[in-house]
Amino acid sequence: MSLEEEIEKFLKDRGAIKVGFANKETLAGPPNADITYIIPEAKSAISYALLFDKDIVRDYLSKKDFPNHEGNRFDLNYRSVKISKELSNWLSEKGYESKRIISNNNYKKEIKGWKVNMPPRLSHRYVAVASGVGSFGWSGNVGMKDIGTTILLGTVVTTAELEPTKPIPPEESFCTKCKLCTQVCSASMFSKEEEVKFTLGGIEYSHAARNGYVRCQYVCGGFTGLHPSGKFSTWSPGRFEIPETNAEIYKMMGKALRRYPTWPKRTDCDGGYINESAPGINIRLTCGFCQNICWGNPKETAENYRLLTNSGCIIQNIDGSIVVFPPEEAEQYFKSLPKEHKSKYCIMKD
Ligand code: SF4
Ligand code: SF4
Repeated sequence: MSLEEEIEKFLKDRGAIKVGFANKETLAGPPNADITYIIPEAKSAISYALLFDKDIVRDYLSKKDFPNHEGNRFDLNYRSVKISKELSNWLSEKGYESKRIISNNNYKKEIKGWKVNMPPRLSHRYVAVASGVGSFGWSGNVGMKDIGTTILLGTVVTTAELEPTKPIPPEESFCTKCKLCTQVCSASMFSKEEEVKFTLGGIEYSHAARNGYVRCQYVCGGFTGLHPSGKFSTWSPGRFEIPETNAEIYKMMGKALRRYPTWPKRTDCDGGYINESAPGINIRLTCGFCQNICWGNPKETAENYRLLTNSGCIIQNIDGSIVVFPPEEAEQYFKSLPKEHKSKYCIMKD
């Protein structure tokens, strides 16, 4: 068995659905694809994907269940951190210096403005695309045919010289450019029309231009959740506006951040985590819709869109319990709550 086959078996025995290899040449280009930032003598990077539980994703999208998905997301993150650690230890025992890249929350802190731009120490996405584990969708998320973007990527960097695997050719991409990922983003994080192009390992790629990470921090971070259409929400009870410009969003997020700690403790589940870029704030991942909706199959993705856009809106009661109503009822119910409570979730006009 070659070392590549051994690594593939090692990862698939632990639940990986696909494994690939990249090297300095196939990752040449973007600064966040530089494996020598992790180990100066690095020769290769190993990429693999773990799969989210799709039944749980559907219950999440249709607002039947929040805790299971939050749990599935944290479990998968912990699993990938553990698997990558096991693989890097195993390779180190064989004499190859190796380091895992933890799944998230791992930034180049020496870069000015890192809390805003969140530059990863090494982009899991670039390694996954260069090694053919997945390809870019319009959203910029990485996915696979018939699976879509409901995957979690893991990466290990090593001094072992591994034969690179081929990227997925454009004609085999899972992405049909349906752009439903842009429709479900309350924050308008992705452009519907404008593309960014870049070269990775000598190959040109493109995906939607991103309008500013602050948008996702504001919405996916859980501070607000009502879609600008008013027709559905994320799992956040926040009803703060999502203004047009990033500068206005920063201002509004500041206001939301001051009110966020006054929200009663959620009774549906006691979760959350602290992100390095926002110390002291318990972040609840309440969206992830751009990733969750896309199943790499147009019918399934369209069904997810239907379920989500008909799932209603979240309101939090004074006792911390979470209730879901159709949009107009949610609006009425929210209006009926005491002013002092409502003012925790929006900027009151009167
Ligand atoms: S939702 Fe549609 S456009 Fe967006 S990544 Fe998936 S297939 Fe591509
Ligand atoms: S996670 Fe939510 S807020 Fe963030 S980009 Fe995706 S859809 Fe938009």
